[in-house]
Amino acid sequence: MFQTSVLASGSRGNSIFVRSRDTGIILDAGVSMKRIFNALDELGQPHSIIKAVIVSHEHTDHARSAGALCRKLNIPLFISADTYSYSAHKLGKVDDYLQYFESGTDFMIGNILVRPFYSSHDAADSNNFCFEYDERKLGVAIDLGFAHRLTLQKLQGSSTLILESNHDHEMLINGPYEWQLKQRVSSNLGHLSNEEAIGLISQVMHEGLKNVVLAHLSEQNNTPELAYSSMKSYLESIRSDAKLMVASQDFHTPLIDI
Ligand SMILES: [Zn+2]
Ligand SMILES: [Zn+2]
Repeated sequence: MFQTSVLASGSRGNSIFVRSRDTGIILDAGVSMKRIFNALDELGQPHSIIKAVIVSHEHTDHARSAGALCRKLNIPLFISADTYSYSAHKLGKVDDYLQYFESGTDFMIGNILVRPFYSSHDAADSNNFCFEYDERKLGVAIDLGFAHRLTLQKLQGSSTLILESNHDHEMLINGPYEWQLKQRVSSNLGHLSNEEAIGLISQVMHEGLKNVVLAHLSEQNNTPELAYSSMKSYLESIRSDAKLMVASQDFHTPLIDI
């Protein structure tokens, strides 16, 4: 058994659940602890399966309740030292739970191999991740403005991909954001557009890719229908039978077999 669910995703908060038979991980806790527990309850997952929380970077939509969750469940908080120094004030007292990881250095949580790697984003030390277990691989690439060669190399061979599809470029440019924010979002340190998500996937596509979950959609500059239809036409054009889903800010996805 190796499963995932995107519990919530978007600029108001992100959280992803990953589990093997006996190890559960929460990657980012950017929504309330109540939301996370409610989602786990609805998915039939006991809270006791959660063995660790990982924080990808210090932005509040990823770090919000990570400290509270570790204190509540008495479990370690995996975070990079730089991210911790920028988010300590958001996390509360976590001295007893801190486990520093370094970008590029793999580590184990229970029987799941966790592989953090640099993501191009406007944070102190932003990371994307792969999770590996039982010859399956989950790639998670959200909060990146640009897919480096490293990103592509790390995501190769993923059987399930959770991938940012933040904005439609036209909607962003013509939308309500201030010019500076438009520039930030579309820059190499911002967020991936629908078009860039397709560009990324086209470079890591292989027959074993079973599931694609589009995540971190902007509520102002994208719609789930638009993100879905542009990726769907790409997948159809290359005759991929990967299952496509769109994660939501307000609802968790079903449990997905990685
Ligand atoms: Zn984010
Ligand atoms: Zn961010």
